[in-house]
Amino acid sequence: MENANLKAAIAYSQRLQWAVFPLHSIEGGQCTCKRSCGSPGKHPRTQNGLKDATTNVVVIEKWFTMWPDSNIGVATGVASGFWALDVDRHGVNGFEALEQLTDHFGKLPDTVEAITGGDGSHLLFKHHEGIGNKADLLPGIDVRGEGGYIAVSPSKHQSGKIYSWELSSHPLEINIAEAPQWLLNMVNKPKAATPVKQPTGHWQMLMNGISEGGRNSAATSLAGHLFRRYVEPSLIVEIMQLWNGRNDPPLEQRELEIIINSIAGKELARRKGGK
Ligand SMILES: [Zn+2]
Repeated sequence: MENANLKAAIAYSQRLQWAVFPLHSIEGGQCTCKRSCGSPGKHPRTQNGLKDATTNVVVIEKWFTMWPDSNIGVATGVASGFWALDVDRHGVNGFEALEQLTDHFGKLPDTVEAITGGDGSHLLFKHHEGIGNKADLLPGIDVRGEGGYIAVSPSKHQSGKIYSWELSSHPLEINIAEAPQWLLNMVNKPKAATPVKQPTGHWQMLMNGISEGGRNSAATSLAGHLFRRYVEPSLIVEIMQLWNGRNDPPLEQRELEIIINSIAGKELARRKGGK
């Protein structure tokens, strides 16, 4: 039997110089890692994952012979010479946001485009230095750049569908386009935080320590402030503990942890495109 995944992986790596590596796949609706993993059929099969991505045909042959059912991951960024807009229609519909953009700025150029197994799209654009990964460029739209990867045809999606290239947008048939300047500006710009403005003196008052009545709401406010600014979670815990020491009396350790966890959960949902 012909090994379609091997054949495709070789074509991508040899004809397009894309750096490929094997991902787990879907078998009977389950991830081939046979665990309840967080990203069925999408996570690397080799030990170093993305760092193993290569154009070396010997290595690629070895992988896809050892695991013929592997999905195909392609490293985005300089390794393969492109970055990707990852547009999703589940939960929030990224295609609506994309349409609003193109209505405003004009059509995107014809470029290589895939239909993902989840009915989303991958739009590929020529590599530019400085483009990394970004979740929620707009609701339902992620960016895969340096340090990221995408699954490509004929990888299997958890839905049972197969990743495929759009008709007349196959990478072996057309070139990857240069992204328009407005899109590059957007992708390069750090995502603006949308902090709620606090009245002057609020933080100062808060940092002086809070008495019993206001501690809960102050802790919520401070944790929210730090998470929205993408401060490292472990650092947030430390800052919150130092702050709590100034309170009179301090919150119980357990109470403080519950507040931090609850805010972390909300922030995670927000970053995933919830609110
Ligand atoms: Zn898995």
